[in-house]
Amino acid sequence: MNILLVFAHPEPRSLNGALRDVAVAALRAEGHAVRVTDLYAEGWKAVVDREDFPGLAPEERLRAAAASAAAFEAGALTADVRAEQEKLLWADALILQFPLWWYSMPAILKGWVERVYAYGFAYGVGEHSDRHWGDRFGEGTLAGKRAMLLVTAGGWAEHYSARGVNGPIDDLLFPINHGILFYPGYQVLPAFVAYRVDRLDGPGFEALAEELRGRMRGLASDAPIAFRQQNGGDYAIPALVLREGREAPGARGFALHRVEG
Ligand code: FAD
Repeated sequence: MNILLVFAHPEPRSLNGALRDVAVAALRAEGHAVRVTDLYAEGWKAVVDREDFPGLAPEERLRAAAASAAAFEAGALTADVRAEQEKLLWADALILQFPLWWYSMPAILKGWVERVYAYGFAYGVGEHSDRHWGDRFGEGTLAGKRAMLLVTAGGWAEHYSARGVNGPIDDLLFPINHGILFYPGYQVLPAFVAYRVDRLDGPGFEALAEELRGRMRGLASDAPIAFRQQNGGDYAIPALVLREGREAPGARGFALHRVEG
């Protein structure tokens, strides 16, 4: 497979840097081709603003989605964004790697998503009507490809368990797994999350590295999270509400959007 790893940590000598090297080596050992986008090292521009749309007349009000659509359609997105889109089309699998910062991804990675996921590329794709609400949530430009998160967290696994004070990790990562990865079509694998990493020692690192190697070996074959297809009949369209009785008994919240509930 072709694999793109988008790396969002400012320090190459960090734990994240070491885990990236482990992941890339394990993937290459499996015969995969790997490309890395190192956002901090490459000085990624993290905000959407007028500079992203050089074709926009100075007197024209910036409307981000409309400007994105026009620039995508005209092939006029900036070169850095086009290069990342080309990598996404090349890759059979995408890995987003980051330390959990304030219960989410670092701003630079959010900015990568906001800029690279142009209208017409990642959203605004497919027919939008009362019968079909766009090619999204399981369909879209990146359908047929796989994706997963590689995350490190200072908090303990218990803090992120079903009754943990931080909230369950599956819930915290839902907006990324479902809203960012499943949305444009990716099949999303369960995240690799390393907990309680801030005082990690040598043996702890080796155990973590071995676990990560195992996940990298399974990247092509592990079962994805069973998110429901938006246009597969489970949701009433155009309300996009899950039809009554589709969920497993007792399922609530984000779990409603997984087939197994
Ligand atoms: P590093 O600091 O580089 O390393 C962590 C430990 O691993 C160190 O002990 C280091 O010695 C060891 N290590 C590094 N490399 C190796 C190696 N090659 N071999 C052996 N040991 C090694 N945590 C949460 O749980 N929830 C949050 O919401 C959250 N918000 C945060 C917000 C901010 C702004 C910051 C700065 C931190 C936050 N944290 C949070 C903690 C954060 O998630 C962790 O600090 C981060 O995941 C650690 O990853 P790192 O790569 O920066 O680790």
